[in-house]
Amino acid sequence: MSRRQKSIQDILEMMKKPQRIRNCGLVGHIDHGKTTLSDSLLSEAGLLSPELAGEARVLDYLEEEQRRGITMKAANISLYYEKALGEPFLINLVDTPGHLDFTGKVTRALRLIDGVVVIVDAVEEIISQSETVIRQALAEGVKPLLFINKFDRLITELKMDGAEIQSKFERIIDRFNALIRIYADGSFKDEWQVKASDETVLFGSALHRWGFSLPQFVNASWKFQDIQKKYVDQEVKTLETTFPVWEAVLRTIITHLPDPITAQKYRIAKIWAGEMPVAMMMANCDPNGPLILCCSQVRIEPHGVVGTGRIFAGTLSRGQKVYLVRDKKHEKIQQVSIFMGARRDQVPDLPAGNIAAITGLPNLRAGETIVAEEIADGFVPFEDVKYMSHPVLTVAVEPEMLRDLNKLHEILKEIQIEDPNILVRISEDTGEVLMSGMGPLHLEVVEKQILDKGLKVTTSKPIPIFMESLRGVASYQKSTSQNGKNSVKLLVLPLEHTVMDLIQNGTITPRRSPTAIMKSLKEGGFSKEEAQGFWHLGPYGVIIISRMDPEKEKLFSPELKEQISSVIDAICMEGPLIKEQLRELKIIIRDLNLTPAAEERTDGELTAMFQESIFKCILESGPILLEPIYKMTIEVPPTLLGPTTSQIAHFQGKVLQVEQREQFLIVDALISVRKSFEFVDALRGKTAGKAFWFNQFHSFQPVPDGETKEIIDVVQIRKGLIRKRKSADIDLADIDFKN
Ligand code: GDP
Repeated sequence: MSRRQKSIQDILEMMKKPQRIRNCGLVGHIDHGKTTLSDSLLSEAGLLSPELAGEARVLDYLEEEQRRGITMKAANISLYYEKALGEPFLINLVDTPGHLDFTGKVTRALRLIDGVVVIVDAVEEIISQSETVIRQALAEGVKPLLFINKFDRLITELKMDGAEIQSKFERIIDRFNALIRIYADGSFKDEWQVKASDETVLFGSALHRWGFSLPQFVNASWKFQDIQKKYVDQEVKTLETTFPVWEAVLRTIITHLPDPITAQKYRIAKIWAGEMPVAMMMANCDPNGPLILCCSQVRIEPHGVVGTGRIFAGTLSRGQKVYLVRDKKHEKIQQVSIFMGARRDQVPDLPAGNIAAITGLPNLRAGETIVAEEIADGFVPFEDVKYMSHPVLTVAVEPEMLRDLNKLHEILKEIQIEDPNILVRISEDTGEVLMSGMGPLHLEVVEKQILDKGLKVTTSKPIPIFMESLRGVASYQKSTSQNGKNSVKLLVLPLEHTVMDLIQNGTITPRRSPTAIMKSLKEGGFSKEEAQGFWHLGPYGVIIISRMDPEKEKLFSPELKEQISSVIDAICMEGPLIKEQLRELKIIIRDLNLTPAAEERTDGELTAMFQESIFKCILESGPILLEPIYKMTIEVPPTLLGPTTSQIAHFQGKVLQVEQREQFLIVDALISVRKSFEFVDALRGKTAGKAFWFNQFHSFQPVPDGETKEIIDVVQIRKGLIRKRKSADIDLADIDFKN
C-alpha cells in the first residue's frame, strides 16, 4: 500500500491510540506563507480517506480539489505520516484564523490543538501578528515550533552570504525564545525553548516545497553553499526531492509536539474551570468515560450546520444523545465525521483525543460544550458566555444595490451563527442595518466574509458604542401603574466596582446558583441583607435586589419574579439620556404591591411603573454616559518610552504599568476606543514603526465631563431623537472628540 492511503481499519485503529495523534495548527503573520505550506502538506502527505481505495483515486480527488480551488480554503485537514519502522501517525491540522483580534476566535481554535508551527518570513522576521499568535498560543498552553520560511528570498533577492543568513536566523530564534521565556508557564519557559540543533526549528521555502532541520541537513552532508548553488544552477527541484517540506514539518510535529494524553494532563487546568472527577477523566483522555467535547467552530453548509470540536473525554458516536451545555438543550448527533481537505468522511464513532465534525445539531454555536447526558447536570462549560464582553464598535452596512437587502440579511444571519461576537440589528430610528463587533479589524474581516459570500457592501466609519449609568446616590422613588393597581418603591445606585470586577472575570454569572452568587456578592462588598435579597442579574451588570419585608417577599413566586426581572431588563435596554443600554446598576426594591389579577399587572403596566421610578432615580442623581475603553499592551524599545507615554497622555490615556521584559519595555495603558484609532496612527509615527501593540476590551467608563455634551448631541442627531440641528449628514465619526 502506498504512503498516500490507508485502509479504514488502519485509520480507525490510529484514532483509538491517542499516542499516535497530534492535534496542531499552522499560524503566522499574514503573507508569511501559511497557505502555501498547508497546500504542500495537503498535496504531498498522506491523506486520510476510508472511502478511497487506491492511489489513483486519491490523486483524482486531489486534482478535483485543486481544480475547484478549494484546497486553499480547507478549514481542517487530517493527514497521516509513517515514521521509520512503519509507525503510522494521525495529524489533525486545525485552521486557526489568521487575523488577530479579540473575538475569541483565535483562542477558541487554539483550545482544540496542543501545538502550533509558527511560520515566520525570514525576510520580515517576527512581526506583530506572529508575536501575538505566539503569545496567545502560550497563554492557552499550546507548544510552539518555528518554521523559518522564504529562505529562497535571502539567496535570490537579498543575495545574503552564509554569515549574514546565520545571524538573521539567530535573531529570529532568539526573539522566538524570548517570547517563550516571557509568556510560557513555569517549567515550559525552558522546556519549550527552540533550538537549531534539534528539530524544533525548521528552515525552508514553502513555495519551492523544501525544508529541513539542521540535524537533517548536516546528516545529509549538505552545506549552505550547496543550496546557493542549486539556485544558481536552477536545480531547485533537487532541494524538494532531497528535503521535502511536508516530511520535515510532519516529522517535527510528531517528534516535538505532545500527544493528547500528554497535553491534556497540563492543559485541562488551564482551559476548563470545573473540578474533579471530571477533570481527571479529561486529564487522562479517557475514551471510556462520559463524552466531553468542546466545539470551536461552526460553519453553515448547504445541508446544515457543521461543527468542529475536540473530544476531551469519552467517545462520540453517531446517533448519540447529548446535552448542549450553553444552549441548555438535549439533542441527538446525526453524523460524526473526520476531516479530509475540504471534504469529510463519516465514521461510526470517535474516541477522546480526536477532532470531529458533527452534524445534526441545528442550534450548535461556536464555543459550545457538548457532554453525555449523564453528566449534564451543572456541567461547567469550556467557554462561558463572556458575560461582560461586549461589542465596542458599530458600522452601518448597506448593499451596493438596494434590491440585495434581503440577501444581506440572510448573509448576516449566517455570519452571526458562525461568529457569535457579531451583533446585528436594524436601527429603529433610521432603518439602517447596524453591525457591531469587537474592533475595527473584526468588522473588516466580517465585511470581507460578506464579500466572500457573494455580496458587495459599503460600510460607514466605525462608531464606538456608548452606554448609560448614573452618577451617584439617589433616594427611594415611588410610582404607581397607570391603572392604579400596582405600586413600587425602589432605589437605583451605581454597582460597586468590586462586584463589577467579579462579573467581568466570570466569578458572578447568571449560570451560577443564587446561593453561590449571594456569597460572591458579599465578597464583592454587598451588605449581608443586600446579598440575601438577590433576585436577578441582568445583562451588563444590572443587579436586582429585594429589601422587602420577608413576609411580603414570600408572596412573589419564581414566575412573578421572572416577569419583573424581564420587564426591568427590557427597560434597561434604553436609558433616559440617549436610549442606550443602562449598565452597572444596583436596583433595590424596597416595596412592591402587585394586584393578584394577572390582566391588571401586564408587562405594559409594569414597564411604565418601573420605568418611571428607575428613571426618576437616575435623573435625580445625574445620568452619565459610559464609553468602551481598551487596555493596550504596547511593547517598545526603552529609547522610545518617552514618545510613547507622551502620546498616551496626549490622547487622555492612562498608563497602568511599565515593565521591563528582555530588551523591551511593556507599557500597559487604558485608552478610550474612540480615541484609539488616532492614537495608534500617532504612535506608529512617533516610534517609526518600532512599537507593537495589542488591544483588548477593558471596561466601560464615564465619558469625561467636558466631552459628554457633544457626544450626546451627535448621537441624538444620529438617532433622530431630536430634530437635526446641524448639517443633515453629520456623523459621529466625523467629530473631533478631543475638544
Ligand atoms: P499566508 O497569508 O500566510 O497564507 O501566505 P501565503 O501562503 O498566501 O503566501 C503569501 C505570499 O508569499 C504568496 O505570494 C506566496 O507565493 C509567497 N510565498 C510563500 N512561501 C514562500 C517562500 O517560501 N518563498 C517565496 N519566495 N515566496 C513565498
